[in-house]
Amino acid sequence: RCGYVAIVGRPNVGKSTLLNHILGQKLAITSRKPQTTRHTLLGIKTDGDVQAIYVDTPGLHKENDKALNRFMNKSASQTLRDVDVVLFVVDRMRWTDEDELVWNKVRHLERPVILVVNKVDRLDDKKDMLPHLEWLTQQLPNAEVVPVSALHGRNIDHLQAVIAGLLPEGEHF
Ligand code: GDP
Ligand code: MG
Repeated sequence: RCGYVAIVGRPNVGKSTLLNHILGQKLAITSRKPQTTRHTLLGIKTDGDVQAIYVDTPGLHKENDKALNRFMNKSASQTLRDVDVVLFVVDRMRWTDEDELVWNKVRHLERPVILVVNKVDRLDDKKDMLPHLEWLTQQLPNAEVVPVSALHGRNIDHLQAVIAGLLPEGEHF
């Protein structure tokens, strides 16, 4: 199995922490898949016969320049259509307008979306749980919900197994 995985989410939800944990020491620098200009390659994780190529979606979160923003948004949307799996990272309880922005890019995608609920280590009170979580899972009925702690490496193995299960079989050039 081999394919592209986009990591999306507003700033500070823990995307970099998550990716650092996934890639660890096993960062590879070669891919048999070509990198398109719409992708910013973040890293490649190879596990046996599973190769996950992590990409960024430039422009997804930029808000300043209107014309540039439109262009970048288009580019981001194209990137999201190119990938095989989308990791939508959210904080376990905080939902902001920026999450909403990202979510609006993800909600209509005909791609598997994994809702990664991060920072569960800070969940000391269950009633603090992201109030939108239930609502979100209703909006994204096909999304897998995977709670993780990127910082403590909790449930990351499971997340990677879920990702692997959603990647296309064989090699797609
Ligand atoms: P990004 O902007 O989405 O790339 O977020 P970062 O990976 O830079 O993380 C933002 C902040 O959240 C940093 O201070 C991280 O240490 C912290 N953080 C990330 N993941 C976790 C987690 O699972 N638990 C806790 N408690 N903090 C986290
Ligand atoms: Mg980051």
